Amino acid sequence: PRLANQIAAGEVVERPASVLKELVENAIDAGSRRIEIELEAGGARLIKVRDDGGGIAEDDLPLALSRHATSKILSLEELEGVASLGFRGEALASISSVARLELVSNVTDDPRGGWRVVAEGRQMEPRVSPAPHPRGTSVTVRDLFFNTPARRKFLRTEKTEFGHLEETFRRLALSRYDIGWVLRHNQKTVHQLRPAADGEAGERRVSALLGGKFLDNALHLDIEASGMRLWGWVGLPTHSRAQADQQYFFVNGRVVRDRLVAHAIRQAYRDVLFHGRHPVFVLYLELDPAVVDVNVHPTKHEVRFRDGRLVHDFLFSSLHRALGEVRPETAG
Ligand code: ADP
Ligand code: MG
Repeated sequence: PRLANQIAAGEVVERPASVLKELVENAIDAGSRRIEIELEAGGARLIKVRDDGGGIAEDDLPLALSRHATSKILSLEELEGVASLGFRGEALASISSVARLELVSNVTDDPRGGWRVVAEGRQMEPRVSPAPHPRGTSVTVRDLFFNTPARRKFLRTEKTEFGHLEETFRRLALSRYDIGWVLRHNQKTVHQLRPAADGEAGERRVSALLGGKFLDNALHLDIEASGMRLWGWVGLPTHSRAQADQQYFFVNGRVVRDRLVAHAIRQAYRDVLFHGRHPVFVLYLELDPAVVDVNVHPTKHEVRFRDGRLVHDFLFSSLHRALGEVRPETAG
């Protein structure tokens, strides 16, 4: 089974950023309000995620590390409308097969409570020992790919890997304003984001993560039609080219890279602003979970809409209208 895990690990664990994504999605699924991330050496030495979510009970700790042990799917029908981000039950198993993983968790409000389990590469120490921890979970991943030297060689420079880690962090933090976040790299605080639910929460978070300039040249929109809602910010043509990579699209709170979505946005931009402007945006699409399948691929951020045409038209016409309204003052 450990070998199977290592093979599966190739699917899930491409680089430190993919580990971070899996750990943070678990923390979000656990209902956390605060998530703290500690990284060292571009994640190659350390990736630690600490949350204040529901925790994992003593008996479930070793299970959490075994393959296909998910607590999240009860029936096949549930796959239809998966609200939780994880559903495969193999991320922790995969990660622990290519790193040294420690899980400490407490499901009670007694800060002296808590349990710890450790797994290192092919060796699994299924013994659970007491370890104090506030309610919630800390997952520590050290020495990624220590036992798969070929994969370790594929790691890029610390700076490049940190770039991927920070980008993953941005997407996750943009998906949940109501969660407080801390990101540290090599003992330095890179981001510290307070949780918020008020009207300005989104703007504060967007400028903290994408820079204050993003909003200076962006149009806010919030449009509802055909049972869908599209809201967020799109950059206007005065946007500098340096920000050309700032494209964030969320479907029901999950970051997505989708051809249909990209096409609709590009079309609307091209139509209104000409010159093949590179669109920049932070957009949230909300729709009935039953008409969208977010589980096309575990790691590739793909979606499949039941009625792609309808979604495409809604996105295109919403953006077209919103951008068209500001065009007279900004284009040209
Ligand atoms: P999945 O998320 O697909 O269920 P994982 O391998 O990522 O699979 O996690 C396995 C199980 O471990 C989860 O189903 C969950 O029960 C538990 N778990 C992992 N991380 C956490 C966490 N931070 N808080 C609470 N439970 C967790
Ligand atoms: Mg998971």
